[in-house]
Amino acid sequence: MCNNKRKIVLVGAGMVGMSFAYSALNRSLCDEMVLVDVNKRRAQGEAMDLNHGVAFASSTMKIYAGEYADCGDADIVVICAGVNQKPGESRLELLKRNAAVFQSIIEPVVRSGFGGVFLVATNPVDIMTRVTYELSGFNPNRVFGSGTTLDTARLRYLLGEYFSVDPRNMHAYVMGEHGDSEFVPWSQAMIATKSVLDVCGQSGGKYQIEEMQRLSGEVRDAAQRIIEAKNATYYGIGMALVRICRAVLGDENSVLTVSARLRGEYGQKGVYAGVPCIVNGNGVDRVLELQLTGEEREQMDASCRILQESYAGMEM
Ligand code: NAD
Repeated sequence: MCNNKRKIVLVGAGMVGMSFAYSALNRSLCDEMVLVDVNKRRAQGEAMDLNHGVAFASSTMKIYAGEYADCGDADIVVICAGVNQKPGESRLELLKRNAAVFQSIIEPVVRSGFGGVFLVATNPVDIMTRVTYELSGFNPNRVFGSGTTLDTARLRYLLGEYFSVDPRNMHAYVMGEHGDSEFVPWSQAMIATKSVLDVCGQSGGKYQIEEMQRLSGEVRDAAQRIIEAKNATYYGIGMALVRICRAVLGDENSVLTVSARLRGEYGQKGVYAGVPCIVNGNGVDRVLELQLTGEEREQMDASCRILQESYAGMEM
């Protein structure tokens, strides 16, 4: 932490950014929130609007539209700037458009003397996080993305519905790319400490293993379905970002499936992908490597290969 006051700079005051900021105010996430956007007027208007809610919040928060120089003493820079996913457009197709946006953001943040952690939400999030790492030159622990945090929350919710169990007692992860090649390692899915696969096998047909595949498909396609219905997704990711920031500001050592740089885990090097990590004041303190089955390992390899190829394709 940089000082006693908890300070976050949000870059990108669009739908995702402001859903995060609104949720942050309601959850008393920090003491100071700075909004930076290429559209300064929009950032000013959003700051005014949010400030009018401070009187109704449970604690005060200093909120204002600022500049990259304000990052100097910030704990976290959250990046939600970019262009939005169009109906039918894959996350990877967004890549080149957003890489140009990041060029104009990372350099002035670093120049400000920023000593905290970068948290990236812009899609394709695994690639944009890697771009942030490369442009910043920071230790990779201090650069991570929202990864499959939201997908994991969706999965736990759906599993909770299916098994009629509180989602907080469902322990299962979505791993790999935040996108089409993401997967669920079912061998690691638990109701409390009992394997989901065992529960299905012992239920006399009440719970079906085949249904697990349907649920993971539902999680994978959720963003596209929301985009088709209302053009964009933002509330869920806004709340996921607040959860991740809380783990950082509170030095929580929480397990979250953020997008982290792999350094030999799962046999991968250099790629950023969604994996369970211990998140604390250092950012990603470490990757919690799970014991995947052979088939799950192949799914992880395939997802990381796609991410490696996209990143390499962008560099060409
Ligand atoms: P939006 O268009 O509402 O907001 C984007 C904001 O970025 C705008 O205010 C725009 O002015 C700003 N911006 C553009 N270029 C900039 C620059 N160079 N510097 C500073 N600000 C700049 O879009 P949104 O709906 O808020 O989505 C933002 C991003 O979040 C998209 O990439 C979207 O795909 C992504 N997203 C990620 C997840 C996830 O799970 N990681 C979920 C939903 C959306």
